[in-house]
Amino acid sequence: MTKAGKFCCMLPVPALFPFSPPVDEMDDEKCMELALDQARRALAEGEVPVGAVIARGDEIVARAHNAPLGRKDPSAHAEILAIRRAAEVIGNYRLIGTTLYVTLEPCIMCAGAIIAARIERVVFGAYDPKSGGVVSLYRLFEDGRLNHSVSFTGGVLKEPCAEILSGFFREKRIASAFCPEPQKNGEIPKWS
Ligand code: ZN
Repeated sequence: MTKAGKFCCMLPVPALFPFSPPVDEMDDEKCMELALDQARRALAEGEVPVGAVIARGDEIVARAHNAPLGRKDPSAHAEILAIRRAAEVIGNYRLIGTTLYVTLEPCIMCAGAIIAARIERVVFGAYDPKSGGVVSLYRLFEDGRLNHSVSFTGGVLKEPCAEILSGFFREKRIASAFCPEPQKNGEIPKWS
């Protein structure tokens, strides 16, 4: 047997290769659990429960949750706040080589910010048929007219990600049935 042949025979199969592990489903689920923790924080503050984290390699560089009501800021979605935080931490407005994990499919505003930030990959949990900008209403990450495309994976831990949202809106509907006055913050969100 030649040296090269012997070496080839000794190559481990990729699935068992112990170094530089690819981002696999377990990693995605682990990071989505961290995003879910953020969604629970939003819930505790009476915000629509969506959470996001941004990872670079094996480091979490930002965590954030939805906060438009508390901040009185319609742009304060979890993804936008996480992007701002990550840019501060990394010290650059381009978030090259990062992955954003978010419990709900990004809306078109957040998808636009993700493209502007040059985020490499997005992983989301629940699909949003009413305002999703990745696959449900628009497919912004695959639009070849834009100068950056983002790879994405949807449906990671989608059941708990959807359940925290539907539970929140179920409570809102029950509360509004018993309270004909306008809600304190002026709206009953439509997601269900
Ligand atoms: Zn958004």
